[in-house]
Amino acid sequence: MAAPWRDVVRDAAAVREAAAVAVDAALLAGGLMRTGEQPHASDVVNYAPFTLLPSAVPRALFEQAYAVQQDFNLLVDAISQNKEFLEQTLASTIKVDDFTAQLFRIYKQVLEEGLAQTVFLGINRSDYMFDCGLDGTAALRQIEINTIAASFGGLTSRTADVHGLVLKVLGKTEEASRLLPNNPAKGLALGIAKAWELYGSQRAVVMFLVEEIQRNIFDQRCVENELWNRNIRVIRKRFRDVFEQGSLDASRRLYMDGQEVAVVYYREGYVPQNYDQQNWEARLLLERSRAVKCPDIATQLAGTKKVQQELSRPGTLEKLLPGRPEAIARMRATFAGLYSLDEGEEGDRIAATAIADPDRFVLKPQREGGGNNLYGEELRQVLEKIRDSPERTSYILMDKIKPQPALNYLLRAHSPLQVSECVSELGIFGVYVRQGQELVLNQAAGHLLRTKAIEHADGGVAAGVAVLDTPYLV
Ligand code: ADP
Ligand code: MG
Repeated sequence: MAAPWRDVVRDAAAVREAAAVAVDAALLAGGLMRTGEQPHASDVVNYAPFTLLPSAVPRALFEQAYAVQQDFNLLVDAISQNKEFLEQTLASTIKVDDFTAQLFRIYKQVLEEGLAQTVFLGINRSDYMFDCGLDGTAALRQIEINTIAASFGGLTSRTADVHGLVLKVLGKTEEASRLLPNNPAKGLALGIAKAWELYGSQRAVVMFLVEEIQRNIFDQRCVENELWNRNIRVIRKRFRDVFEQGSLDASRRLYMDGQEVAVVYYREGYVPQNYDQQNWEARLLLERSRAVKCPDIATQLAGTKKVQQELSRPGTLEKLLPGRPEAIARMRATFAGLYSLDEGEEGDRIAATAIADPDRFVLKPQREGGGNNLYGEELRQVLEKIRDSPERTSYILMDKIKPQPALNYLLRAHSPLQVSECVSELGIFGVYVRQGQELVLNQAAGHLLRTKAIEHADGGVAAGVAVLDTPYLV
């Protein structure tokens, strides 16, 4: 991939000056996070980490990622309505993975009772890396689709202006003018507002379900404020609050302390650590309700790694989206190799291949949020240990994507300014709303570029590994 900043990236004086401008610009623009030391306070904050320079992204791959987003929205929505597919696909996983099993139990229970919810809202983010082939050309490869709590749609809107300023400071005014504006929060809010409207009660509120520790609150506030601008009332609650204050009326309308809730937007609930017994009960209450859950539990299950792996099997997409060959071709063109570790000959064979050549693969459990995947020597050791046990089926294997690194500076509070070899991951936000069987909204809502030093195999921005970035199309 081209390295557009080759002439300045090693110029220490210019870099120092630009970094000082960049940090102040980020603070001014509201690219903020609460600090690790005071995660509950908004009066002591710092800037969310970001790159000094925008990163080169091939225009064709960027456009390809946007062009396939509506297809992925359709696909996730179709999976969420396909009980047979979810049941078959997750059957082996739920035998060994307690978290997925617990989600699945709630899913089944809610279906057996009959859904009260009639309006459905999906907000997802499809993530990609740029795989570098032997001939040096890059290909778009999907890493995963996040169907719950996909974050940074707010803060990412702040980075393009900061990078524009940095480029001007570095004497690159022309290049600065080419950076694309980007505001996913607006698109996400549009989806939430549409769902709220279709729910059909002026008095009802939108509830953001948030974590105990909310370091990334400003990212959420971006979406929240867009809703207030549309005169839609927003409340922020935790599972604990739902357990204590939540109730359903006879037609399963959801109330929080007497206030009707139209939409529940989860920024929580995607990892086992988010749950104790009370929180599981709260989750069940929300899922049983008529409120629009974003996502409903079926859509959360549609985002599991196991589902992703099954999608790559020949014929699966055709069954899920009959009569949509073009959409299927666009999606399949982004798939990396994915492999089932279910018990049997197919799983035995790929396990042996990965043990022999671990650097070709990533081993993934059914987890979200970064830092859970296994690589290299660790992958080999773990796989060797579990290769003959049913535990194996709680993981999937994926081809490891190998992007071409580029030099950049990762600006992080309290960290020295130093050049790093970096790789980037592009996310496209998708939003859709369905009323009964009719899809009333289906859009790509903006992008997120995250960049990390190549020493880190895994991890996102919240995990402290990747930082916010802006694509510079080449
Ligand atoms: P999570 O749900 O924890 O975010 P991901 O599948 O997105 O899990 O993986 C986390 C990170 O690991 C990604 O952001 C990426 O940096 C890295 N990663 C994941 N899959 C691959 C892969 N196939 N090749 C290279 N890196 C990967
Ligand atoms: Mg991820």
